Amino acid sequence: MDLSRFPRRRYTPFHTPIEPLPRFSAALATSCPGGRGPEVWVKRDDMLGLFPGGNKTRKLEFLVADALAQGADTLITCGAPQSNHCRITLAAAVKEGLQCRFVIEERVPGSFHEDASGNHFMFRLMGVEALSVVPAGTAMAPAMQAMADELAALGRKGYIIPGGGSNALGGLGYVACAQELQQQTFEQGLSFDQVIVGSGSSGTHGGLLAGFLGNRIAIPITGIGVSRDPADQDPLVHKEAQAVCDLLGLGMTVPREKVVSVGGYWQPKYSMPNARMVEAVQLAARTEGLLLDPVYTGKVMAGLIGLAREGCLRAGERVLFLHTGGLPSLHEYEGVVLGTTEVAP
Ligand SMILES: *Cc1c(COP(=O)(O)O)cnc(C)c1O
Repeated sequence: MDLSRFPRRRYTPFHTPIEPLPRFSAALATSCPGGRGPEVWVKRDDMLGLFPGGNKTRKLEFLVADALAQGADTLITCGAPQSNHCRITLAAAVKEGLQCRFVIEERVPGSFHEDASGNHFMFRLMGVEALSVVPAGTAMAPAMQAMADELAALGRKGYIIPGGGSNALGGLGYVACAQELQQQTFEQGLSFDQVIVGSGSSGTHGGLLAGFLGNRIAIPITGIGVSRDPADQDPLVHKEAQAVCDLLGLGMTVPREKVVSVGGYWQPKYSMPNARMVEAVQLAARTEGLLLDPVYTGKVMAGLIGLAREGCLRAGERVLFLHTGGLPSLHEYEGVVLGTTEVAP
């Protein structure tokens, strides 16, 4: 499949490594049926460019190229107060000599603090031009359009990037990842039985699925919901995967049964900690020196651990965990992940 007709900026000059996690796998096995568990590997998309990068880096390669082609001078996007997506979008803007503005949705009431650390601190350090905080449930598209209109009145040109960079164009970033993965497994003589990925605004899960279908990669993908259970998440992922396939001109209907997500690991609420996330973050850190974040990858790894303990990921199966980044928010939750602050069960 040829992506070369889509303009692309490059923010990562290498393929992200695929690494085995033998000590993590051994520790996990002790709590799996019969004391045997899956062989867990990781693809290090936390090492992507616009460091500390993450999955948004891949989507922005296509989105920012489009913004530049359209002559935009400002990127406009939205997210939560500790949004990785906003921070990486800002980094891309700075690198390209563009301005950047955010609409910040206070999804957890009272969670926005002007002097917060983590990603919010980096917004300030990298010089976000303007940031408007709106209450949970505010419609983001009109709020961003209003920002673009304000800029237009000043003779400037904004380019709106949807939350998480998850539209058809952004999803191409994970089609490119599918192709990278295919090349790496071929070159390294590796094969995987399952890929586990976080599923939020769905560009990563949906884009990867479109890339697997388009490249005839038969490995099943399981998404772990970070903000929704399957009844709400699966339709979003299906829509994204279909939009990406359509943009690619594949002439294919995405089979509904290829969209698989698992719920129950994100509660009590998006971005709010729970005990299984804390266990996962500690286990990865203490067996492999692998750092996960509390909002996304910690909950996704908790899902992988849960599936292994239920026997859904079987003994000896080789599972690839896609590490999507998110490390800066770890510092916002230090007491939580060290176990000194109490969290939901
Ligand atoms: C945004 C994000 C996700 C979720 O990816 P989507 O494409 O929004 O589904 C997962 N992990 C991290 C670290 C993120 O920042």
